[in-house]
Amino acid sequence: MKIICVGRNYSDHVKELNNAIPEEPVIFIKPDSAVLRNNSPFFIPEFSNDVHHEVELVVKICKAGKSIPEAFANDYYQEIGLGIDFTARDLQTNLKQKGLPWEKAKGFDHSAVIGAFYPKSDLPQSVLHFELYKNGVAVQSGKSSDMMNSIPQIIAHVSKFFTLKIGDLIFTGTPSGVGPVKEGDILEGKIEGKTSFKFSVKQ
Ligand code: MG
Repeated sequence: MKIICVGRNYSDHVKELNNAIPEEPVIFIKPDSAVLRNNSPFFIPEFSNDVHHEVELVVKICKAGKSIPEAFANDYYQEIGLGIDFTARDLQTNLKQKGLPWEKAKGFDHSAVIGAFYPKSDLPQSVLHFELYKNGVAVQSGKSSDMMNSIPQIIAHVSKFFTLKIGDLIFTGTPSGVGPVKEGDILEGKIEGKTSFKFSVKQ
């Protein structure tokens, strides 16, 4: 199983990090050792002092495919959930400045939180709303219509480069409001009002 992530897919988040609007999707991959499920606590890794939460819609691939046309992309996923693309922002900034790959800042152990998935038939067909609450306060709020690349466009793009397999996950990018986590924080993600995950941060 692989985890494919889209970076810079919401213009308000691109602006908050002073990045340029990309000409085509920014793609990176996390290894399967990055997965953190079942509302298990997240432990801040010792190599970072600035781990940020990035709440994202997550798509679960249900059918293998390569070079999938955008028009058929809807056949390749049946469920949508919510996750967090934890990012060691200090490490990432350092790597970006040197022009080096982001993997250590993005793909470290337990950096990919996966919450509950829901059949897409049970969710609104047009716009999906999702939020991240930190200690009960909404810190990120997104809607799928703000994505610069839609889910079908992402599936079409990434499958040109990577064969998609059953069980692969696609993190679709984060809206604005990213920020650091600290010991004792409680993070809760909701999609259309349903709690997909709720877990604590430890050190
Ligand atoms: Mg992200």
